[in-house]
Amino acid sequence: MNSSTARKRRSESSALAPFTQEQIADLDIKGPRPLVVSDADEVLVRFAEPLERFLSERDLYLDIVDYRLVGNIRRQSDHSPVDQDTVFGLIDDFFEKRVDHLPLVDGAVEALESLARHADVVILTNVPNAYRDRRIQAFQSLGLNFPVVANSGLKGGAVRVLADLAAGPVAFVDDIDRHIADVATTVPDSYRIHFVADPRLAAVCERAPHSHHRSDCWRRTSEAIEKFLEGATG
Ligand SMILES: [Mg+2]
Repeated sequence: MNSSTARKRRSESSALAPFTQEQIADLDIKGPRPLVVSDADEVLVRFAEPLERFLSERDLYLDIVDYRLVGNIRRQSDHSPVDQDTVFGLIDDFFEKRVDHLPLVDGAVEALESLARHADVVILTNVPNAYRDRRIQAFQSLGLNFPVVANSGLKGGAVRVLADLAAGPVAFVDDIDRHIADVATTVPDSYRIHFVADPRLAAVCERAPHSHHRSDCWRRTSEAIEKFLEGATG
């Protein structure tokens, strides 16, 4: 889950935003080399738990009945859902106040460091470009020392451009099924992992149909990616 869950009705397209193109052009990716592209929220860092704390401070709560925010953020007083615009405002405010303080998902640093020994690793996150520098600093403070690309809309376009630069096998990790489906379209031979860190969220969503592997564990995810890369590179 991430801010794009709330923003999807505002902007959802595979077209690459200029700021995303510029960030990718600045990366030092020279293939042929394997590439691992990972989402951040609910994959590398926790999102739902910190959001719940943020909501409880505002007499609200997240009703985890399915994988979306609109309709599931409710008032503690009468359990009524807040409207869509209020959800968008809350998520923007949450990012503004908490983006620097989202805790790591267990094993994420170790897994990405291990994969980075023989693959380029890129964090592809749907946050407004203005938050990118704060995210980079926050991730570095957590030990996630990898390039961060801010994206808007679906992720298939960005992963296609990254895949062309790497010119090697591509693994993609995300918690949102529509990003996985989009990457399946733009990079069909990619290896796609549907990763949901929060067990309550994992319980309310099916494995993404276009994923090869469903996981909530970075050790097993890393092993699965290694196995794919070994097979793909011979
Ligand atoms: Mg996410």
